[in-house]
Parts: sequence; C-alpha cells; structure tokens
Amino acid sequence: MAQIKYSVVVPLYNEEAVVQELYDRLTKVMRQTCETYELVFVNDGSTDKTLEKLKTIAVGDDHVVAVELRRNFGQTPALAAGFDYAAGEIIISMDGDLQHLPEEIPNFIEQINAGYDVVSGWREKRVDNMIMRKIPSKIANWIASKVSGVDIHDFGTTFKAYRRGIIKDIKLYGEMHRFIPALVSFTGGRIIEIPIKNIDRPAGKSNYGIGRTFRVAFDLITLRFLLGYITRPLHFFGKGAFYCIALAMLLFAYIMFDKLWYNVPIFVAHAPLTAAGIVLLLIGMVFISTGLIAELISRVYFEATDRKIYAVREIYKKN
Ligand code: UDP
Ligand code: MG
Repeated sequence: MAQIKYSVVVPLYNEEAVVQELYDRLTKVMRQTCETYELVFVNDGSTDKTLEKLKTIAVGDDHVVAVELRRNFGQTPALAAGFDYAAGEIIISMDGDLQHLPEEIPNFIEQINAGYDVVSGWREKRVDNMIMRKIPSKIANWIASKVSGVDIHDFGTTFKAYRRGIIKDIKLYGEMHRFIPALVSFTGGRIIEIPIKNIDRPAGKSNYGIGRTFRVAFDLITLRFLLGYITRPLHFFGKGAFYCIALAMLLFAYIMFDKLWYNVPIFVAHAPLTAAGIVLLLIGMVFISTGLIAELISRVYFEATDRKIYAVREIYKKN
C-alpha cells in the first residue's frame, strides 16, 4: 500500500450517539485534502454501541482502522494506542465527541506544511463550567507553561497535529497527553498554537470533573522532573540534600556554640533544635541515596530502551 499521508486518531468512550456523524464529517474533510488518509478510531472499552458502529464503518471503508481495547484504559492510553497504529506521515489527534470540529483539520495541516512539528489547538473561548473547569484550567495552563517553558495557552486539548517522527518518539504515561507539547519542545520540536472553536458536547456527558486537576498537578511534577533532570537526577535530589544538610549544620553549630561558650545543657535547653537537626540530616541523606538510585534507574532507562539523551533533526552530507 502507498504511504499514508494523514492519520486521524480518535479515542472513543461511549460515543455511540455521534460516531456516525463524526465518521461522515471526517471523511468529507479528509477527501477534500486530496491526499491518502486513514481514520484510526480507538474504542476505549465503551459499554454502549460505539464498538458495533465502528465495526460496521470499518468493514465498509478501507480508510478506517478500528482498534478495540480490552477494557476502559482512559484517554491517554487510548490515544497512545491510536498513535501506535497510525501509519500516516502526519498524525492528527482529536476528541470523538464532536467538541472538536473535523472541518478545522485543514488549518492544522496548513501549519504542519509551513514547517512546524506540532500544531496545538487553543480553545480561545471555552464553553465549559467556570468554577469546575475554566478557572482550574487557567491556573493549570499557566503553571504548565512556566514549568515546561513552552509558551502556549492551552495544554489541555487533544486537538493537535504532529509529524510522525515526533509522536513516535514520545511515550505517554498518566495523563501526560496534555504535555506532549512540553515533551516535544524538550526534543527540540517546533510548536505552534492555533485557535480552535470549542463547542458544547452535542451528546453524552464529559468523562471528567474536578478530580482531573489533581492528577494533572501530579503529572506536572513528573514533567518538571523529566524535562530538567531525567539524565541527571542526583542534581535534583542533591539540591534538596544540600539545603537540608546545610540547615542541620547551622543548627548544630549554634547548639555547640551555646554549649562551649555558655555551657548550656544542650539536651535540656535545645532538645527540639537537636531533634530538628538530626531529622534534617537524615532527610538530606535520604535525598542523596534517592538521587543515587534515580541515577541508576536513569541509566537503565536510557540503555534498556535504547533511547538517546539527544535528538537529531536532520543530517546533511554529500550523497
Ligand atoms: N475518552 C476515552 N476514554 C476515557 C474517557 C474519554 O477514550 O476513559 C474519550 C472520549 O470519548 C472523548 C475524549 O476522550 O472522545 C475526551 O473525553 P471527554 O469529552 O469526556 O473530555 P472533555 O471534553 O470533557 O475534556
Ligand atoms: Mg469532550
């Protein structure tokens, strides 16, 4: 089969009401590109008729690949599955609830063709609930852009397009699909953000509430660590160790001074300080040993997975 130009990857969890319309609209849009394309639908353990509908569609159209997961794994793993099965040179991911408009795909393609590695959708005007979604999301996005050093407004949306090499290089864990742009920027990918429409879900209800904010916050910590210290974890833990041990030393110095100069009975006068000093010292040592273990793990990680600590964009040479 000829090389496929575009793959559209869509995770679906209980979206029976919209699958057919989604497929129809995607097909119309992708045909208009006049390029080879495929639609990779991932059924993430739906309990409704989503799978049946996907099967019917896949049987009747060789542009469609339907991937059935064994159970409901969640949006990030479902996306990861879709990326693994996507054969296209350019991979577009989007939600399957029609909150993302298939008709906007050409805008993404345009930016990829302009040379960007990742095109990320930005819900300029969000329709979601103020307290539960908009405000937490504003804060999270602000922190995410500070932490990751990637200057985009909206990390949350899955509506994105990638060059194949970029997405195939990234491993997704937790709810990390949100931070793909950050992970991509780490490997030197060029990223651009384009405004997208954000409409209400035409059917069904959202699978997420406020709980997601906490999971995303934890992922941010992982992200900070991965981006800054994956190849040198001891520098991260060592910093913590340094502060703890330095503080412990100051406390001990002060206590010793009191003892030697004023002959204060330290266990009577400075019991809490002594305890604090010992605790800090111990924490410092824990940090150092954790850091050393992390150094070992980091080496195992890079060697076992054959991953590089650098990323090459292109190689130029004669012939
Ligand atoms: N989704 C999924 N597995 C899940 C939850 C959601 O594949 O466990 C899909 C869902 O079908 C939709 C997309 O992920 O296509 C986004 O989910 P949702 O609309 O619930 O999130 P929101 O738009 O509220 O952020
Ligand atoms: Mg949605």
